Amino acid sequence: MKVRVESSRHMLYHYGWLSGHRKAVYLEAAMTKLHIADCWVKCCEDAIQIHGGYGYMTEYEVERELRDAIGSKLYSGTSEIQRNIIAAMLGL
Ligand SMILES: Cc1cc2nc3c(=O)[nH]c(=O)nc-3n(C[C@H](O)[C@H](O)[C@H](O)COP(=O)(O)OP(=O)(O)OC[C@H]3O[C@@H](n4cnc5c(N)ncnc54)[C@H](O)[C@@H]3O)c2cc1C
Repeated sequence: MKVRVESSRHMLYHYGWLSGHRKAVYLEAAMTKLHIADCWVKCCEDAIQIHGGYGYMTEYEVERELRDAIGSKLYSGTSEIQRNIIAAMLGL
């Protein structure tokens, strides 16, 4: 989970730095959005597993975080569309 958080933070800050220095950052934007959404979902799955049955129950709000995380793979360009953008930017 720590690796996912730190790699996400690094990609986000790197994207922010790049966007301040050049115009075309489509590839970095798509990779960053895809990576952060994937990491958020996987961290929430781990959090539920750590909490066991309590993590699954609505009263403890951990499952709510997972639903919020899954939304990030849909809004502002789905993960599939991010992959399409990455492939296109790589000339595939
Ligand atoms: C929590 C949340 C908040 C949102 N907030 C907003 C908002 O503020 N403003 C707004 O306008 N919209 C918002 N949306 C809507 C969101 O942008 C759309 O749900 C999203 O763009 C996907 O469109 P769709 O639901 O029509 O799915 P579809 O376009 O029908 O896609 C269904 C599935 O097919 C995949 N798919 C579609 N086309 C391709 C393709 N060419 N290649 C590969 N896979 C493909 C998608 O990735 C997805 O997995 C929000 C959605 C959620 C879940």
